[in-house]
Amino acid sequence: MSEEPQFKRVLLKLSGEALMGSQDYGIDPEMVNRVAAEIKAVRELGVEVCLVVGAGNIFRGMSGVASGFDRTSADHMGMLATVMNSLAIQNALENMDVDTRVLSAFPISSVCEPYIRRRAIRHMEKGRVVVFAAGTGNPFFTTDTAAALRAAEMNCDALLKGTQVNGVYTADPKLDPTAEKYDSLSYQEVLRRDLKVMDTSAIALARENDIPILVFSIHEPGEFARVLKGEGQFTIIR
Ligand code: UDP
Repeated sequence: MSEEPQFKRVLLKLSGEALMGSQDYGIDPEMVNRVAAEIKAVRELGVEVCLVVGAGNIFRGMSGVASGFDRTSADHMGMLATVMNSLAIQNALENMDVDTRVLSAFPISSVCEPYIRRRAIRHMEKGRVVVFAAGTGNPFFTTDTAAALRAAEMNCDALLKGTQVNGVYTADPKLDPTAEKYDSLSYQEVLRRDLKVMDTSAIALARENDIPILVFSIHEPGEFARVLKGEGQFTIIR
């Protein structure tokens, strides 16, 4: 008999890159379906799920700045790109019969609902997956910070960061074969060692609100559900 999930409500943060699959740009429908299947499996455990998706697969503000765009315009473009990713995930989930709502931090009312905290909570209580699009709605922020912010607003029990590897390592395991995985870390250690897990403001927000961050591989089938049951491979930051 498998373990019960340890959390009642969680927020999953995915980088835009997670939707890129083997492509070097954009949205890979196969990868989006795989991610959606991971989320569906967690919903079936009875866990309430919300999501924040980045846009590194399409457009990042800082790359826009490097090619001459004004920072605020570039960040608006980055936030709009997160809306595209959110709609792709919604589509894949709804094709799997998982009710999903996209809530945007700034109004794009003919495309999705505006973000209203109480409405988001209500959706989750009704068993719907909620995808928070457009980051925080403000330039000069990242979707990592948006994830920590929404996790705090939604009273989530944990923030799950789905990455390319199965946890946080002493060095990049793809470049350094001697790199070792941490089982657990404190928020303070992450900040002090400048470990590239999430940006500093996201870690600080999670720490202030006592939200554990679990870092795991989104590429391992079934891992999202396993991690929530305390099985699987992950690093916990608390
Ligand atoms: N962004 C922003 N404010 C936010 C969240 C995101 O301006 O609250 C913009 C910013 O330009 C960022 C882009 O959206 O580069 C995509 O987000 P992010 O870089 O966090 O995506 P990820 O690296 O997770 O794919």
